[in-house]
Amino acid sequence: MKPEEIDALKAGPELDALVAREVMRVEWDEKRCRICGWPLAKELKDGCVDFSCSLRPAPERRADAPAPYSTDLEAAWMIVEKWHLCVHRAGSVQPFYWVGYPGDLPGMVGDVDNRTLGTGETAPLAICRSALKIAAFEECEHHS
Ligand SMILES: [Zn+2]
Repeated sequence: MKPEEIDALKAGPELDALVAREVMRVEWDEKRCRICGWPLAKELKDGCVDFSCSLRPAPERRADAPAPYSTDLEAAWMIVEKWHLCVHRAGSVQPFYWVGYPGDLPGMVGDVDNRTLGTGETAPLAICRSALKIAAFEECEHHS
């Protein structure tokens, strides 16, 4: 994915899934129910099995659903901690937030320095875009 494509990504479940896969590298433990997260039972009468969850009513959010990285700051902060990012608020001028590595000086919006990773209208969105760029860059490094 090219940097300009990443900058055009919108917040939402699709971006969350992309971040879970490419950035956080979340892998589901196949011994757990994908709906409720409990360990799978051997038989349906004992609990959840791979084709049926025993939880009624079903949870609002599936256990294997990606965290709301692009809309929720708490979820996005897991990315910040994983990659040691620095989040700046750029006053009241859009795009409002930009993300870089610690030690980078805050730049003016529209005149951000080359080390700015990503920007966004919200902090979680800026964080997701930035982390995807790091992940994409790492891929290139490892495969070249
Ligand atoms: Zn279940």
